[in-house]
Amino acid sequence: MYNVMSPKAEEFISHEEIQETLAYAEKNKNNRELLEQILEKAKLRKGLSHREAAVLLDCELADINQQIYALAQQIKKDFYGNRIVMFAPLYLSNYCINGCEYCPYHLKNKHIARKKLTQEEIVKEVMALQDMGHKRLALEAGEDPINNPIEYILECIHTIYGIKHKNGAIRRVNVNIAATTVENYRKLKEAGIGTYILFQETYNKESYEKLHPTGPKHDYVYHTEAMDRAMEGGIDDVGLGVLFGLNNYRYDFTGILMHAEHLEAYKGVGPHTISVPRLRRADDIDPDVFDNGISDDIFEKIVACIRIAVPYTGMIVSTRESKACREKALRLGISQISGASRTSVGGYAKPEPEEENSAQFDVSDNRTLDEVVRWLMEMDYVPSFCTACYREGRTGDRFMTLLKSGQIVNCCHPNALMTLKEYLEDYASPKTREIGDKLIEKELDVITNPKVKEKVIDYLANIHNGQRDFRF
Ligand code: SF4
Ligand code: SF4
Repeated sequence: MYNVMSPKAEEFISHEEIQETLAYAEKNKNNRELLEQILEKAKLRKGLSHREAAVLLDCELADINQQIYALAQQIKKDFYGNRIVMFAPLYLSNYCINGCEYCPYHLKNKHIARKKLTQEEIVKEVMALQDMGHKRLALEAGEDPINNPIEYILECIHTIYGIKHKNGAIRRVNVNIAATTVENYRKLKEAGIGTYILFQETYNKESYEKLHPTGPKHDYVYHTEAMDRAMEGGIDDVGLGVLFGLNNYRYDFTGILMHAEHLEAYKGVGPHTISVPRLRRADDIDPDVFDNGISDDIFEKIVACIRIAVPYTGMIVSTRESKACREKALRLGISQISGASRTSVGGYAKPEPEEENSAQFDVSDNRTLDEVVRWLMEMDYVPSFCTACYREGRTGDRFMTLLKSGQIVNCCHPNALMTLKEYLEDYASPKTREIGDKLIEKELDVITNPKVKEKVIDYLANIHNGQRDFRF
């Protein structure tokens, strides 16, 4: 029985409810009156239910689809402006005891290079990331209680926060590790993590169990209830995601929105972010063997419909996607992207030799961070290295309050401009710096509060003179 407030995975992600939702969406996909009503509700910017969003996703009427895309773009602008938050993944270890069929780190893969970074190697990797200009990392590690126990992860976090190299600093460490206990989540919280990220991969229990035939990850219920345990352990910001391509996309789109509704209803805070990765080719993984691949058009529709359904949730796209695809997705709703990513274990300090491939997947966007930053600015986006909320304790519902207050232009925007200025001063190429300084000048006008604007102008001058780390 479907129950959004239930602590049980199979009740808050009810298979029957998803099936009924998909049937309802199929039946109503060309029901103009209903589609228009849903769009009217969406324009209030308070979000949509999974059922309403599923109808929009299935809609085949060209003019309504145009309105869906236009609204997604407008909501993106209203809530996130033209700022794009930058981050980089750092793979700590690819030892893993699970049997995930779509990931080359699965236990039975004997030809992938297995690696685990030592603390000394982490220092080198993080210094290389700092030298590129990154301030925000997402740590990744396989599940292996012997090679990557929680103590190892905690030690890595501690090491990373402690590295101060030139003007660099990693100011927010997000963590993507396997589902774990409340006690371990509490330890992660105490170690100062930002977001805890865990992808569901698919919400369809039957497919999930087939795709995870062995290892602890096989347990669908334990995995699906992980975010509840993370929040119980004190982590306010959690990041959801599914791996599109594994299972029917309509099913997983509905599932992820039901998960978001559950967190909001049961824990009082929806997910901080939703990621929309698509299955990619990797060491012994051929995406064509899964016949649920989605086209770029469907991918864009998913991004637009999630943007409309959960306006307060940040959306992330990685370098799995090409430049062209990321361009479209940015317009429709993406608020965070990774740049210059290495998906091997380490690989930032020194590129991995080809014969040693330890990568989780092939990246489609191989540009440097400087190139990505310039590309964003040339499209009039403001690349942001802001981590202020986390550092000011604005997590969970406090972060949501900021988002809902309409004060973003006087908070996120100044923070974005100041962190971009830091980037330009310390890491950018002359060409990127020139473009960036002009952009900052222009973007100061977006700040509506004259006192804030005045302060920002002062702070920008101070940054130019060598001071760092100003924030609102
Ligand atoms: Fe291990 Fe994660 Fe890869 Fe599964 S997806 S094999 S849990 S690293
Ligand atoms: Fe994000 Fe907070 Fe910075 Fe705004 S101020 S960009 S919400 S971290």
